[in-house]
Amino acid sequence: MSLMSKAKILPLIYGGTSKAVKRPYACEIVRCKRKTLALYIKQQKVVVRCPLRATKAEVEEFITSNHAWIEGRLCEESLREKQALRVEKGAKIFYRARERTIVFKEGRKQRVMVVGDDFIIQGHQLTSAKAKIQVEDFLIDKASEYILPRARGLARHLGVEHKITEIKLRKTKSKWGHCTSTGVLQYNWMIMLAPYSIIDYMITHEVCHLLHMDHSQRFWNRVESICPDCDHYINWLKEHEHRLWF
Ligand SMILES: [Zn+2]
Repeated sequence: MSLMSKAKILPLIYGGTSKAVKRPYACEIVRCKRKTLALYIKQQKVVVRCPLRATKAEVEEFITSNHAWIEGRLCEESLREKQALRVEKGAKIFYRARERTIVFKEGRKQRVMVVGDDFIIQGHQLTSAKAKIQVEDFLIDKASEYILPRARGLARHLGVEHKITEIKLRKTKSKWGHCTSTGVLQYNWMIMLAPYSIIDYMITHEVCHLLHMDHSQRFWNRVESICPDCDHYINWLKEHEHRLWF
């Protein structure tokens, strides 16, 4: 049995009477076998994990002393939620690091065009659902044109092309790329919304796993030798990736 199944969960509403807090938030208190108190925020929910013996006062004091942090994280999360990509007429799309407006255009021929600040989706009697499929097809096409030859080319340059058994393009829940010990390279085609420098970093990262199957210093040295600004790209992804998922 896991420890969690024994955990006691008490909901608490915080900040309702405090002036320091902008709005009340629900706090879930999870008591479990641990030594220290910890805070987590996920999907606008605040969770405090605390030792079985922690007193109510201790838990409240812990939450109060972390109000500023909680507020900051809740604001950040709600901003991210607002910025999440929705393929709808008039919505904003963050394409190649530039915010553009989604425009629906009536036409028999299905196509996607990026013209200046407009991300134009053309199709017959477009709905959001149809437009989403068109954007997906557009990105998959771009990914097969760009990622597949570049990943093979880099692998050839590094002398590891023979290790590739397959290169897959697929939408995954939380990853941009993956490399298995059997030589399957996998890329999330949604990365095609990002600038080319970021896509190149992702290509490099997975191909370098053909040489080092871990995230050791040797692995990072290799990545950096090909992609010297990789730190910058990793940070860019951390900051913006929530705008590329849909
Ligand atoms: Zn990796």
